[in-house]
Amino acid sequence: MKKMLKTLLTLCAAAFLALTSITAANAAAAAPAAPTLQQMYGTLAKHTRLCDAIQARISGNTLTIDVYVNFRGSYNRKLEGATHAELAKRGFRLWAGSYTGNRWDFEPGMKFNVKVNIYDIYNGNDRKPAQNYFDFVCLKGKGRGYTNFYVGYWDRTLLGTKRGFIYNKNYTNGAIIMYEGLNNRYTANQYVKVSAHELGHVLGLGDRYNKGLPSTQECPRGKYYAQGDIMDSHGRVTPNNIEMFLEAYRTNRYQAYVNSHLPEVKSRAIRSY
Ligand SMILES: [Zn+2]
Repeated sequence: MKKMLKTLLTLCAAAFLALTSITAANAAAAAPAAPTLQQMYGTLAKHTRLCDAIQARISGNTLTIDVYVNFRGSYNRKLEGATHAELAKRGFRLWAGSYTGNRWDFEPGMKFNVKVNIYDIYNGNDRKPAQNYFDFVCLKGKGRGYTNFYVGYWDRTLLGTKRGFIYNKNYTNGAIIMYEGLNNRYTANQYVKVSAHELGHVLGLGDRYNKGLPSTQECPRGKYYAQGDIMDSHGRVTPNNIEMFLEAYRTNRYQAYVNSHLPEVKSRAIRSY
């Protein structure tokens, strides 16, 4: 009897173990799947006009960004074998790629893709009717480039028009004015990176550098961004940059890293400090 009881107990234990593993397996299978980009942000259709110079749409886990750009100036000048226009487009495409969410951006472990389509015209030729194109102006010589709108007054619906608060009436709202370097001539790689950074402004993101960004929950001691953010001086496009773009796109508000003189307002995508 004692032996039988022991066997029974062992069997029960085994059954219990089996049961727990089945339960664990079920729990894993039943755990809610990470939401798709489309479930989180919608398709973006209600924010998009077909004449806009920057258009975006989401399908499943793919975000597609359409860029309508008009190259002007010395865009055919070559640098390390590529024209300035080619390097600029290479820079725009740095926003494309595969991204993984983390605890601060999107959902942890969530994977999604960004595609960038570039519709480029030159000196205004072959423009699609009723389509806005922002200027990319290639200038010879050294100088500080800029994006042609006043910080905080970014308005996606005005990009590629001559309306809104702009520095230079010769160029469109959101024009990227690009010189060949600030102190020294850019290398091809620098030209690409600066173009990607300036596109970030056209997409509605502020500058990361020189902001004295305090330590944030998202960015303790500045480490996370310091490892690379295209809106800083030397960086790459991060999930946070994509999150800021989506916020800019949906709210039509410029996304700054810190609160500054109004209307420059800290992005909701920059977590609390
Ligand atoms: Zn900048």
